[in-house]
Amino acid sequence: MVAFYRVTGGLPAGGKPGARSGHRGGAGASGALGQVPLHSNRRSGAVPSTVTVSQDRAGRWFVSLRVVVPAVTAAATTAMVGVDAGLNRLLTLSDGTTVDNPRQEARERAALVRAQRKLARKGKGSRNREKARVKVARVHARIADRRRDALQKVTTRLVRENQVLVIEDLAVRNMLKSHTLARAISDASWGMFRTLLEYKAQEYGRTLIAVPRWYPSTRLCSVCGTQAQKMALSVREWTCTGCDTRHDRDVNAARNILAAGLAVTACGADVRPQRGTTSRTGDRR
Ligand SMILES: [Zn+2]
Repeated sequence: MVAFYRVTGGLPAGGKPGARSGHRGGAGASGALGQVPLHSNRRSGAVPSTVTVSQDRAGRWFVSLRVVVPAVTAAATTAMVGVDAGLNRLLTLSDGTTVDNPRQEARERAALVRAQRKLARKGKGSRNREKARVKVARVHARIADRRRDALQKVTTRLVRENQVLVIEDLAVRNMLKSHTLARAISDASWGMFRTLLEYKAQEYGRTLIAVPRWYPSTRLCSVCGTQAQKMALSVREWTCTGCDTRHDRDVNAARNILAAGLAVTACGADVRPQRGTTSRTGDRR
């Protein structure tokens, strides 16, 4: 497991860092940077085997420590959950629970658009352009950090509480066709969500199933199976013509995703996602 520690306050001035480490393992980033104070809320007491220092495109420094932690033991459960990803909400669960996007995100997205506009106006290769680029990267990084935080929390909760988790297998191909900023951010966080869920499910001994995305999860009534007419993205709620059930669009979709996942396991079919492998092999020929 790798833990990331943001180096706050930047590097000590004068290039003569001598701060002591706050980490119980006595770890500090050494070498070219000297020692950097680390603040950790983890009290594992484990000594890291590797310490890596890196800088991202936003100019921020990171220290990553590789630490061996004991295996997790999670309480046995029979609970199952289907998860739907959306643009308006971060996630919707089949039990009706919704997980919203981080609160500050709308404001930060607006800031990102402004920063990108400024960057577009700077002359190529100029110093101001480089400054503007860093600014854009910073806003991007801030949004991604908050998202990662939210996703870390929700994925841990999901694997703790459920034995079977079903998600949609959103093809990579579709992700690349991002048109709006909201879409791009949502796609990026979906990839992250899946990665986190995959390793946590494995860690906790849970079953993760990805169902194909062409499954009509939105339009199918999760109560009686009637298929509704195609509906615009703006339609958040609808009533089934077959059984008169009033549906929240996303909750209904999450329920169908769960049902599809359970059908797959019941048939004993291969539950491994089959994302675009055939088309990719085809391209190489
Ligand atoms: Zn119905």
